[in-house]
Amino acid sequence: MQLMPNNRWIEVDIDALVHNLEAVRSLLKENTRLIAVLKANAYGLGAVGTARVLARHGVDYFAVTFPEEAFELREGGISTDILVFAPAGEREIEKAVEQGLTLTVASYRDYRLASEAASRFNKKVRIHLKIDTGLGRFGVTADRALELARLIHYDQWLVLEGLYTHFAEAGARSPKFTQSQFEQLQKTVDALTSNGIRPALIHCCNSAAALRFPEMHLDAVRIGTLLGGQHPAGHVPNKIKLKNPYRFKARVTAVREMPAGSYLGYYRTYRTRAASKIAVVPVGFADGLGLEALSRPGSWFDLFKIIAKLVGSYLNLSRFTVKVKIGKDEYPVRGKVFMQFCLVELPPDFPVEPGTVVEVPVKRTLAPSDIRRAYIENGCLVEAEGDDEGVLGAKREVVE
Ligand SMILES: *Cc1c(COP(=O)(O)O)cnc(C)c1O
Repeated sequence: MQLMPNNRWIEVDIDALVHNLEAVRSLLKENTRLIAVLKANAYGLGAVGTARVLARHGVDYFAVTFPEEAFELREGGISTDILVFAPAGEREIEKAVEQGLTLTVASYRDYRLASEAASRFNKKVRIHLKIDTGLGRFGVTADRALELARLIHYDQWLVLEGLYTHFAEAGARSPKFTQSQFEQLQKTVDALTSNGIRPALIHCCNSAAALRFPEMHLDAVRIGTLLGGQHPAGHVPNKIKLKNPYRFKARVTAVREMPAGSYLGYYRTYRTRAASKIAVVPVGFADGLGLEALSRPGSWFDLFKIIAKLVGSYLNLSRFTVKVKIGKDEYPVRGKVFMQFCLVELPPDFPVEPGTVVEVPVKRTLAPSDIRRAYIENGCLVEAEGDDEGVLGAKREVVE
C-alpha cells in the first residue's frame, strides 16, 4: 500500500520463529500433527510471510479463523492445507470450496452449505466437525454430533477428516472443566467409532492445553501463541524456551531540546523535571501504542492488577510507564500518547537525531496489518511485504 509511510515497520526474526517451531515439535509425539494457527495476521507477525517460513520448515497444516484469511494465504502462494475455524457463510463458501480449504461444520446449516457447494463444484471437500463442550462459541452439542457426523460421512462430496472442540480455560487453576470438556470429546469419539466412523484427525489442544495436558494431544494440536514466542497466560508449565520474533520499529521524526519545566502533550499531563531531549516518534494510539485489550476481569486479582496499572501510570511510576528501546536501553514515553505520535524523554546529551531507529512496544495483535513486515534471517533481510524504499530502509537498518 503506497500510502503507508515508511517510517515504521515490523521485523520478524525467522531464526526465533523456527526456534519456537522446533520447541513446539519437541513436545509432540512422532505421530501427532501440528496445525499452525495463523489467525489475525499470524498474531501480528504477518500471515503470508509467517506461513512461508513455517511451510519451508515442514509445517503441513495451517488454520485461520475466517475464510478470507485463508484466501489471503492462497493469494500469497500458500498451497498447504488450511482449516477454517469459523463456519463459512453463503458469501464465501464457493470460493472456499474452489480453493480446497478444509471447512468447519458446526451446525446442520453449515453441513447443507458445504454439501451443496461441493456438489456444484464436483469437488470433494474435507470437513472437520466442531463440537461445543463449554466455550459457547461454535459447535453442535456432543449428543447431536453423531447425527451430523453420519450426514457428513455418507455425503458423496464430503470427507469427514476431523472432529474437534476448543477449551474454555486450559490455563485456569483447576483442570476440572478442561477435563470435562475432554471427556465429552472422548465420548463423542466413542459414539462415532461404534458406528463405524473414525475421523483421521481428532484434536482439542491450543497452546496452553498442549503444554499442560500431553495426554490430550490426540491426533493433532492447534498452536498459535507458542509459535509467536509467547507463553500462554495462566497455570501452564514452562516446559520450553521460546524466543520473541517480533519487533516494532520506527524512525524518530524530530528531536527537541527542552528546558526543565516544559509541558508535554495534550492536557499537560507531564512536565519535565530537568533539561532534556525529546524525541518525537511517529507511532501513536492509531498504531496500537499504549492500548490494552481490556475485557471483563476474570477474577478479583485481575481487577486489582488493572487498577494498580492505572494508578501506577497516573503517578508516572517507572514500572508502569510505556518505554521505547534505543540501542539496548529503554526510555520513557511522556505525556498522553497522540493519535500518530508519542514523545520520548531522553537525557540532554543523548545522541539522537531525526532518523534514529527506536523499538516501540506495540502489542503484536494490535499492530495494524498494513504496517510492513520485514523477515530477517541471520541478520539479513530475506523477504518483505512491498518492495519500495520503506523496506529498503528496513534493510539498511538491519544490515548496519
Ligand atoms: C486461536 C485458536 C487456537 C490457538 O490458540 P493458541 O492458544 O494461540 O495456541 C486453537 N484453536 C482455535 C479454535 C482457536 O481459535
